[in-house]
Amino acid sequence: MWKRASGFRMPAGAEILGTQGDVTRMQVTIPPDEQGFHGRQCPACEAVFRVDSDDYAALPDDCELWCVYCGHHADHGDFVTQQQQERLVRAARELGLQMVRNGLEDAFRRTARRRPAPRGRTFGIDISYRSAPYRPQPLPDINEERLIRVRTCGGCALRYAVFGEHRFCPVCGQLPAEVVALDALGADTARLDCLAQLPADTAAPLREQGVFTRMWVDTLENLVTVVETLAAAVFQDAVADSAAKLKGKGNIFQRLDDTAELFAAAGYPDLRSTLDPAIWQRLVEIWAARHVFTHTDGLVDAKYLAKVPASQVRIGQRLTITETICRQAIADTEALCRAITSLTTP
Ligand SMILES: [Zn+2]
Ligand SMILES: [Zn+2]
Repeated sequence: MWKRASGFRMPAGAEILGTQGDVTRMQVTIPPDEQGFHGRQCPACEAVFRVDSDDYAALPDDCELWCVYCGHHADHGDFVTQQQQERLVRAARELGLQMVRNGLEDAFRRTARRRPAPRGRTFGIDISYRSAPYRPQPLPDINEERLIRVRTCGGCALRYAVFGEHRFCPVCGQLPAEVVALDALGADTARLDCLAQLPADTAAPLREQGVFTRMWVDTLENLVTVVETLAAAVFQDAVADSAAKLKGKGNIFQRLDDTAELFAAAGYPDLRSTLDPAIWQRLVEIWAARHVFTHTDGLVDAKYLAKVPASQVRIGQRLTITETICRQAIADTEALCRAITSLTTP
């Protein structure tokens, strides 16, 4: 049985719950931020994310958490942030100091009772100890990085916030491939927005050095990778003998027509018939452009012209990419990602 412990003066935010034998239980509250979130820090990669305090309190006591970034999976108690740790240590120090004080006061009282000092006859040193009420030091506040955006897990409805590319829900673990794909497209849009908002005197030298062009080409690269990752995950998830069906097919999910045919052969609708033909044609052109940037530094070859017969560019000329092309490509890729996901979901 826990007994109420008295005699400790604790700072606001730390409360003694009781004692049992020589164990004292203390609770230290972690104040939430203005949005009602508190930090969690991964013990493996040390990166911080935030979770809604109410949602978190509703989780079972023995709940295990996932690091949103690296997927480290452990007891939720291991995810204490640096600042929360400092608060806990301060509270423990306040309790420890008072235990020592109380012990000293006890010892002095007992000594005084058992051996009244004989006056004038012993050689010794007098020690006097005056007891004064203990004044606890306040606990340090929590002042961690503020959240930018609240995300809600589609699986468990937990509200959380991240500070970088992430792949896991703190409670469910691995995020669905479609969520990851749409997040990546959102990041590419944000990057274009960011370039567009640069002050003219910052933008001009970057543009001159080809930084803008490089980012636009990178966007096309990213789109192909996003679709490749999503299509592979959807296919492997839905098709029982996917490994056998993919054997010897190389990077099949980097190729649009082959991907469409693979799903169709496995009994799913043909991707090409589920998308607007104009979107499909633009996607084919973007995929072809990405191919020449990856393999021939953007120089057009016969293979490109076979995919994009209406192109005005001749063999040996270099393709040019613009922000408008990128934004259209992101929108078309989003339509493609949704189409891929719905192929296998009835
Ligand atoms: Zn981690
Ligand atoms: Zn979840």
